[in-house]
Amino acid sequence: MLGERSIKDTVNKAIDSMITIERDDNRIYVDEVAVCLRRSYYNRRERSIPAKERLILMKRFMYRNSMGRREEYHVEDLTLIASADTIVDDAVIKFDIVDRLPSTPEPASLIALNASLWIFNKEEGALVYLTRDGDSIQFSITRDKRLFDETIRRAKVLNMLLKDNRVPVFEPSEECMNCPYYEKCYIQHKRYENPTLEKIFGLRRE
Ligand code: SF4
Repeated sequence: MLGERSIKDTVNKAIDSMITIERDDNRIYVDEVAVCLRRSYYNRRERSIPAKERLILMKRFMYRNSMGRREEYHVEDLTLIASADTIVDDAVIKFDIVDRLPSTPEPASLIALNASLWIFNKEEGALVYLTRDGDSIQFSITRDKRLFDETIRRAKVLNMLLKDNRVPVFEPSEECMNCPYYEKCYIQHKRYENPTLEKIFGLRRE
């Protein structure tokens, strides 16, 4: 029988296997480029991903593998991957469960849905927000080519920076306030005075 400690280790291993799967630099998910590229880069390259971010990534993995359909878009040697919860009457529908209904759609969800419309070759889509109490609100969109071109450009940038092991520039936005990498981006660590050789070897009195 697994003890409590072993269960914890097993669960952690299971989460690790989910979030480290498919880290091919040439395969980029639409939801990785809909958010800050720097965050997505850290999520692929950091040895230790913060606990909250691990749960977000795990949820994303389960979503990609259990829900609806998945489609790929190829551009040069890059593959952009989109998913849809369902496609009804030629419209891509995405559902999101939230604590409070938003008055406007999340920008990242809009970018991801727009890319899905192009990748699934559909003209229209809807974002549906649901609360656990059963309230809902929906936003419909028609696809926008310029936004999709920008999404592809961002995917190419992330792909290139991953290959070169270069961290993307900051993308300051509201997302930063809840980002687990906030400290990495914004908090300057105290810089210690560089000790001279004299000090190290005790050749100079302080
Ligand atoms: S803190 Fe902001 S800029 Fe830094 S990784 Fe997070 S979202 Fe991106």
